[in-house]
Amino acid sequence: MQEYKVESFNLDHTKVVAPYIRVADRKEWQGVTVTKFDIRFTQPNKEFLDPAAIHSLEHLLAEELRHQVDNIIDLSPMGCRTGFYLTVFGKHDPEWAEHTLRKALEEALLSREIPAKNETQCGNAALHNLEGARKAIKEFIAHSRTKLLDPFGNGS
Ligand SMILES: [Zn+2]
Repeated sequence: MQEYKVESFNLDHTKVVAPYIRVADRKEWQGVTVTKFDIRFTQPNKEFLDPAAIHSLEHLLAEELRHQVDNIIDLSPMGCRTGFYLTVFGKHDPEWAEHTLRKALEEALLSREIPAKNETQCGNAALHNLEGARKAIKEFIAHSRTKLLDPFGNGS
């Protein structure tokens, strides 16, 4: 494969076993460390989150993660709709991300409404699916910590 600047373009997507959490990138700049996680909900090229469900999950998670910790820079859905990138301040490991994400997802599951689901606060307020988001959350958190921390499915 040709070598790219984007870390995930160099990842062999046929070798990963979703769901999983892994460090996609870590950068240090002027003494500040930033960690970017690859949070994969569905198996690449096999299964995809529904566009409305991933959008609702983004809203829920973007808010809940910030209730858990104060070092979130960004949470973005992947264009392929198989998961999210989570970027945070600090040198964090997947164990930290799993713990933080699980708590945020458990809280999101208690939510009966999608935050900022309106035309003032969202760019596509009609494209939402709370039930789809809840289903994706339940499927993700049903997996053990050991499983989620094993992106290539060699362990456990
Ligand atoms: Zn939105």
